[in-house]
Amino acid sequence: MSDIFATTTSFADLGLRTDVLKGIKDQGFEHPTIIQSELIPLAIEGRDIIGQSKTGTGKTASFGLPALHIIQNDSPFACLCLVPTRELAIQVARECRELGKHTGLKVLPVYGGQSINTQAEKLKQKPHIIIGTPGRVMDMNQRRLLPYDKIKLAILDEVDRMLDIGFRDDIRKILGGIRQKHQTIFVSATISPEIEQLARKYMHDPVDLSTTEASSLTVSQVEQSCVGVQEWDKRRLLQHLLKVEKPDLALVFCRMKVTVDKVAKALQNKNIDAVTLHANMHQGARNRVMEKLRQRDVHVVVASDLAARGIDVDDITHVVNYDVPEDPEVYVHRIGRTARKGRDGKAIMFVTPDQSDLLENIEKLTNVEIVERRYEDFKPGPEPSDIVDRRRRAEEAREAAKEQHSRVIDALPDAAQTQDASKFPGGVVPTGMPKKRMGGRIRTRRS
Ligand code: ADP
Repeated sequence: MSDIFATTTSFADLGLRTDVLKGIKDQGFEHPTIIQSELIPLAIEGRDIIGQSKTGTGKTASFGLPALHIIQNDSPFACLCLVPTRELAIQVARECRELGKHTGLKVLPVYGGQSINTQAEKLKQKPHIIIGTPGRVMDMNQRRLLPYDKIKLAILDEVDRMLDIGFRDDIRKILGGIRQKHQTIFVSATISPEIEQLARKYMHDPVDLSTTEASSLTVSQVEQSCVGVQEWDKRRLLQHLLKVEKPDLALVFCRMKVTVDKVAKALQNKNIDAVTLHANMHQGARNRVMEKLRQRDVHVVVASDLAARGIDVDDITHVVNYDVPEDPEVYVHRIGRTARKGRDGKAIMFVTPDQSDLLENIEKLTNVEIVERRYEDFKPGPEPSDIVDRRRRAEEAREAAKEQHSRVIDALPDAAQTQDASKFPGGVVPTGMPKKRMGGRIRTRRS
């Protein structure tokens, strides 16, 4: 626990106003976490800050508390906090509301999938702190319901996700739209040097609270392991794992939404109580799953990476990486859904024989050795016939291509055959100019 909390510091020491301290007490927080003890005083001083801290270490309160402290009741629209998912918008707004319940400040989540009219009505009540997803925030701004000219504090939660290619343009438009002087706070559990550089463009002389030493990015309370498995055995292995591990609450991550649906269906067919969570679901259904999760009214949630970031649910005992994530940072966020606030948790990853590179990248980033786990009672199944067929056809095609290639080489004049073919793309050594020159034009089928 002591690696998370600043046990010799109290929230009062951080300089927060009394009505905020009252909210903290009601929440039952005794000591600030380390990131909170570092970030809050600097934020109150008015500094721009880049803050990095492991998952489950209270980053939301680390920016939420100073926001509640800084923003005055006569300053509507003074704080805009951007987050990558609707679920996170709801969760962050909920936490800020609870912590700020004695301040009189209004906190509003603004996110897609909710009725524009309802949100418009709420924005007309002039909230002080907006927690929003970029698309809907821009939409509300265009409708002149969410002005940027009152913003004093701009926050990016999960900053690396917000500045990656998917959101980068939106963030540029929103942050670029804040013309007046303002303070910025950006946080995440993972911030690469490139993202940090990009983030700095939006900041003024920021204080850098990101970890630079080669310490692990994941909390030590999470027991990490991987299981070698063939693609076609994964569903059966998952069922086996759930039978053996008997998790109270497991989050199973798949790379694609279709896999989420298929895996959940397979579990349901085996009478395992599993629900799905991904972006193609209707927002009402997504909210219902989140509620089930919070109420622990479900044992297995099969999810896309929609649930990888920020979701704070107590007592997720297991995270299963059904598919290895391509981006190692995604792994850090996925497994960060368990072992929160100093509790224990298990993270188990399925790795197919061709994925050792991905595994190695994850180990390099996290600075942790992911040990191999075996389920001795699990019997691997035979390779399915369609896969055998596909492999055979691919092999035949490769052979045919090789043969064709040797025929081309044989037909070439002797001088060309002695040149090193590997130096040329496709291995075919050109012996002269092409017969017909294109005159700089490229012919396509349409032209
Ligand atoms: P992170 O964003 O770092 O993953 P969160 O902000 O979601 O973490 O916080 C994780 C949990 O810890 C939340 O349930 C939050 O209410 C709780 N929490 C935050 N700060 C404290 C604290 N100082 N003492 C106890 N619990 C805290």
